[in-house]
Amino acid sequence: MRKPIIAGNWKMNKTMAETKEMITALAPKIVNADCDVVLCVPYTDLQAAKKAAKGTNIKIGAENVGWAEKGAFTGEVSAEMLNELKVTYVIIGHSERRQYFGETDATVNMRVQAALNAKLKPIVCVGETETERENGETEKVLEKQICEGLKGFKSKDFDKIVIAYEPVWAIGTGKTATATDANNTIGYIRHILAKKFHKSIAEKTRIEYGGSMNVKNCKELMAQEEIDGGLIGGASLKPDDFAFIVNYNK
Ligand code: PEP
Repeated sequence: MRKPIIAGNWKMNKTMAETKEMITALAPKIVNADCDVVLCVPYTDLQAAKKAAKGTNIKIGAENVGWAEKGAFTGEVSAEMLNELKVTYVIIGHSERRQYFGETDATVNMRVQAALNAKLKPIVCVGETETERENGETEKVLEKQICEGLKGFKSKDFDKIVIAYEPVWAIGTGKTATATDANNTIGYIRHILAKKFHKSIAEKTRIEYGGSMNVKNCKELMAQEEIDGGLIGGASLKPDDFAFIVNYNK
C-alpha cells in the first residue's frame, strides 16, 4: 500500500558539473526501480539536477525551504522559488539544521506548511540524540517532534508528507540502528500518528529510516515491515552505492 521511497541527501556536496556527472552515471542503473527515487541536492545544484534527471525516474528535492513567502530573510529560499524549478521534494528539520542552525519543531511546522502550500512533498526528519537515547527519552523526544512539527496537518497533507526517522547518533557515523530497533522505533512513530492524528494516517504515511544506510545493511533494513524507505547521506554521493540501495529488492 505504501510505495517505498529511497531519497539521497547530498548535504553540502557536489558542484553543478559533479551533479551532472553523478546523475548521468546513476540514471541507467536504476531504470527498473520499484520505489520512488529522490535526490535532495544543494540549492545551487537544483537546476543542473533537474536537467540531468529529465526523462529519468529520478525526482529532485531541495534540502530546506523558507517558511515565508518572500521578504527580509537573508539566505532563505522560498517554496515558490523551488516550485519555479519544478522541485518535487524538500527535506525539513534535518538534525544538522537542528544542531547547527537553530531549527526547532516550531520552525519545522512553518516550513512544512510553506512546502505544502506550494505542493512540495516534505521529508520531515525526526530522531533522538545519543544522550537522549541513553537517558531512555527516545519515545518522548519523537512524540514531541511529531506532535509539534506536524501540528495542525490534516489527512490529505499526509499523502504528501514523508517522515524520516534518523537517530542522530547514526548519521554519518557508520553506526546503524539494528534493523529490529529501527523497525520498532518506526512502529512507535506509527503509534504516535495513530494516537495523536488518526489510525488511517498512521497506516498511510511513509516513514523511512536514515542513519548510515549503505550497501551492506540496506536489504535487511528495507525488509522490515514498518520501514518504507531510506534517507541516505554518504552513500547517495556514489552512483554505484546509491543504485545498489535503490535496487535493494533485486
Ligand atoms: C542523512 O544525511 O540524512 C544521513 C542519514 O546521512 P548518512 O547516511 O551519511 O548517515
